[in-house]
Amino acid sequence: MLPPFEIHQPATPAEAVALRARHGESAALYAGGSELLLAMKEGLGAVEHLIDVKTIGGLDTLALASDGAALVIGATVTHRALERSPLLRSRFPMLADMERQVANVRVRAVGTLGGNLCFAEPHSDPPTALLVHEARVVLHGGAGPRRLALADFLVGPYESALGPDEILTHVEIPLPPPRAAAAYLKFGLRERPTVGVAALLVPDVARVAVAEARVAVGCVGPVAARLPEVERALSGLPLAALEAGWPSAETSGERLDAVGDLHGSAEYKRAMAGVFVKRALAQAARRARAAA
Ligand SMILES: Cc1cc2nc3c(=O)[nH]c(=O)nc-3n(C[C@H](O)[C@H](O)[C@H](O)COP(=O)(O)OP(=O)(O)OC[C@H]3O[C@@H](n4cnc5c(N)ncnc54)[C@H](O)[C@@H]3O)c2cc1C
Repeated sequence: MLPPFEIHQPATPAEAVALRARHGESAALYAGGSELLLAMKEGLGAVEHLIDVKTIGGLDTLALASDGAALVIGATVTHRALERSPLLRSRFPMLADMERQVANVRVRAVGTLGGNLCFAEPHSDPPTALLVHEARVVLHGGAGPRRLALADFLVGPYESALGPDEILTHVEIPLPPPRAAAAYLKFGLRERPTVGVAALLVPDVARVAVAEARVAVGCVGPVAARLPEVERALSGLPLAALEAGWPSAETSGERLDAVGDLHGSAEYKRAMAGVFVKRALAQAARRARAAA
């Protein structure tokens, strides 16, 4: 059963920040509640005040930034809205595809991107896919807004760089370089993924070889992370070779800081990461060669 609580509905980030400061550790920010309410039912944390971020104006929209250089997604935009967004599907098809694979439709209808990133559950999809897009988060605290690379926001399991007086207001995703193509693949036998892999390839002008590669693996270690050594090794390789299956990808999980858990042993997760890096690269390479 849920313990009794008072709900607060701020209209602005500043009001939410003031409520956090006033109620301290007895307060929690609340969006879709798909994680928080479960935790409260389990008796985790003594939450007496819920601060509903969905009433804050302007956090439920996604649009291109005024300079057109990035997509700006409000923290309370749901997975379902992202999955169905024509803008996301046309400009960031891999992200729309990833969102379609999150949880089930009931969770996607209420769960928000902001809630997902702030809860920092290691077995999540969006952080991995957003890392290869070099996303940034915008946080609003007592001292005003600040921007942080997503890679710096993700600190550890259930731990982010969100300050005690801050809320996440937006996620900014820079438009990818010309000709870039991406793929996201996940695998799992439980509700949440065992492994998630994102690959983004920027081909050369002729669309023959890799000019830039970005690869991220999630769910295997404490936080989703890029694989810089794999990315460097991919530079200059023919796209056709990746499409056929790059053998070296199979060992790409070996250096991961893997954690064994209910989803499998550390060794199993490293091996699965290698399998899915290979498949994600093949899919991204096929898209990079085919794109008009
Ligand atoms: C059955 C099930 C299956 C799932 N499967 C998947 C899956 O396959 N992949 C996946 O990625 N996720 C999965 N999830 C997790 C869930 O869908 C997401 O994490 C969801 O997006 C959480 O968002 P929310 O709005 O419900 O967060 P809430 O529960 O409202 O909040 C989560 C946390 O974030 C904080 N918070 C919320 N909004 C903000 C904000 N704007 N600023 C600062 N802090 C904030 C809250 O205080 C809380 O600590 C699953 C969940 C369930 C229940």
